[in-house]
Amino acid sequence: MSGGASALGIDVGGTKINGFRVARDGTVLRREAVATPAEDAEEAMSATIALARELADEDVVAIGVGAAGLVDANEGVLRFSPNLAWRELPIARRITDALGIPCQVDNDANAAAWGEWRFGAGRGYRHMFLVTVGTGIGGGIVAGRRLFRGAHGFAAEVGHIIVEPGGPPCGCGNRGCWEQVASGAAIGRLGREVAREHPRSTLAGLAGGDPEAVTGVMVTAAAGQGDDLAIGILAEVGRRLGEGIAGFVNALDPQVVVVGGGVAEAGDLILAPARVAFEASVEGVDHRPSVPIVAAQLGNDAGAIGAATLALEELGA
Ligand SMILES: [Zn+2]
Repeated sequence: MSGGASALGIDVGGTKINGFRVARDGTVLRREAVATPAEDAEEAMSATIALARELADEDVVAIGVGAAGLVDANEGVLRFSPNLAWRELPIARRITDALGIPCQVDNDANAAAWGEWRFGAGRGYRHMFLVTVGTGIGGGIVAGRRLFRGAHGFAAEVGHIIVEPGGPPCGCGNRGCWEQVASGAAIGRLGREVAREHPRSTLAGLAGGDPEAVTGVMVTAAAGQGDDLAIGILAEVGRRLGEGIAGFVNALDPQVVVVGGGVAEAGDLILAPARVAFEASVEGVDHRPSVPIVAAQLGNDAGAIGAATLALEELGA
């Protein structure tokens, strides 16, 4: 095939659809984004196809899509998404029918894991566990230099492990999932609790005196300015994050854990307490090589870059 071959990578998130045209070496050649019509599956599908049409040119030989939820990677169907109105959506077939270009679909965090492993914080390792911490928690596993998808593509849906039975309700229908106690959603919820208890706090002030208006972003901003209550919230959420990571390190034995997603942008305010809790929780910490817990490097680009390069490597050869 020609050296000029490229692929589209489309990352369909809860608020934004990110579309990139990507070269084989991971270079982003063009990027576009549109808001996700999250309430209507058909509109979201149309928006995704329109974005692909806009980005495609004669060099594009494959399209990779990353979508949040249970993605049947064998069939190219999004089966279920806790935070989108999409159910049983044959994304790969719809895109291939519309553009005449082969398409494959993966879970968004699986695609992001591939992006970080090929071009970001996971480079040079054979075994990597990625956890994306945003509003929810996603995961991705590279085992022996391959993306581990499981039997259907459902692997690494780590956010929905129940860690607090009877805890806060989750979009998946359960209570006390990891993503409800160790994510941006948890930071916001704890921030509102603190603002209710401390009406004169920085957090309550940032929310204009309305505790119910406190968001996770406000908590992170207050913590960055040295506010002790906000720093305490990030430490608590970081602790829950580190405990969960210890469980997955026990299960997977990776060489490195990469933490991505918007919450990871709080840096050591969340990663330092996560590392402490991890060391305290992982099995036999004194008898195993240390496992670095590091921040992701590609930010919001990881999913689209990973989806595109997976598609190039698996469909475009
Ligand atoms: Zn859940």
